[in-house]
Amino acid sequence: MSEPAHEHAHDHDSGEGLLSVEDARERVLSRIEPLAPIALPLYEAHGCVLAEDVVADRDVPAFASSAMDGFAVRSGEVASARPGEPVQLRIVGRALIGQRPETTVGGGEAVRIATGAPIPAGADTIVPIENTEVSGELVRVFAASSEGKHIRPSGEDAREGQTLLRAGRRIGAPEMGLLATAGVSHPYVHPRPRVVVLSTGDELVPPSQTPDYGQVRDSNAYLLFGALREVGAVPMLAGIVRDDVETFRGAVFNHLVQADAFVSSGGVSVGERDVVKAAFSGRGDVEFFRVAMQPGMPQGFGHVEGKPYFGLPGNPVSVFVSFEVFIRPAVLKMMGRHQRFRPEVTARLTDDVTGPQGKMQFARVLVKQDGDGYTATPTGGRGSNLILTVSRANGLAIVPPGVETMSAGSEVRVWLFRSTDG
Ligand code: AMP
Ligand code: MG
Repeated sequence: MSEPAHEHAHDHDSGEGLLSVEDARERVLSRIEPLAPIALPLYEAHGCVLAEDVVADRDVPAFASSAMDGFAVRSGEVASARPGEPVQLRIVGRALIGQRPETTVGGGEAVRIATGAPIPAGADTIVPIENTEVSGELVRVFAASSEGKHIRPSGEDAREGQTLLRAGRRIGAPEMGLLATAGVSHPYVHPRPRVVVLSTGDELVPPSQTPDYGQVRDSNAYLLFGALREVGAVPMLAGIVRDDVETFRGAVFNHLVQADAFVSSGGVSVGERDVVKAAFSGRGDVEFFRVAMQPGMPQGFGHVEGKPYFGLPGNPVSVFVSFEVFIRPAVLKMMGRHQRFRPEVTARLTDDVTGPQGKMQFARVLVKQDGDGYTATPTGGRGSNLILTVSRANGLAIVPPGVETMSAGSEVRVWLFRSTDG
């Protein structure tokens, strides 16, 4: 390169020499592995993916029980019972909830039973209390009750040894209940990745501070905190790091033990103060590449001591889009999730959208339901610093490489990053 100025004169609309979004994403995802499974307390495993099959250790339910308050009897003995012709039985005991019944039901006998109590031996049906009249040790039954009536049989839901949940299943509310039923108090799951978030830049100040002229509040750390939380990771804010290679390296290595992955923003371009690039360049840990996307062209990705490292560009919209394209699916893969991409809809543009000729543009749009379909309205300009355009949006519309303008009325693919109903 005889003309170093050429680098700066790089045509920002051209896709020449850039990696396609699909290739870049594949390059990243192919180098991400699910986190090794661990046994977590059930309440901490909520939202995680099972790494083992779960088998019923007993029948579910484990014992036959009554579905009514009443009397456990023999169906044959009450078959003739009518309102005018009751059958009289002797009360020989009581079946209690949570206890093995002591009494058995013999000929001419009945046992009082509460809802949920195990069925005593000898009985094959329940007469609800409404169909009886008690006087002393005797009960008169005014209606027949067929075999099995008002009895919840054992094993009705599942049999001992049956697989209740397969490895790969995500633990939602019903699965929490099922695991508890199966006695799995510490399921074996892929844990939530702990992701250390670093913000690089001499100009950055925390949001609590009034910036001096030229200073910028660190918004990326908080944007990433929210994005990581929403995808199910555990974000760990490591603060602002100055544009100094040694300080930056120190910050990364300080957090190694507690991190499953790193995300930093800023410092991946070609400027001399681009600290992330300077810190990793030539070490082979993290590679830097340019992706045919707008925003988010410069990206760094690799592993530091075996932990995935994502080096994002600094502009907040670039951070958001890069997260959606690379980090979100990567975190989901680390969590063992199979469905890693946002739902996609086709929407009709209400306005023109212009993108850079050679790149895939992710235009921030507000998608609304419109009859059977959707409309997509751009929420602002394409500048990668315009954070409000993201806040007003619920989708990223894709203007593919090779297309400069998509006109109002045309159909566009949109990744929905939140719901269309506000
Ligand atoms: P860089 O990629 O480091 O050159 O940063 C690109 C632009 O993003 C600059 O205008 C930075 O001030 C801005 N920027 C970098 N980091 C942050 C951050 N954490 N929060 C808000 N803006 C940032
Ligand atoms: Mg910077």
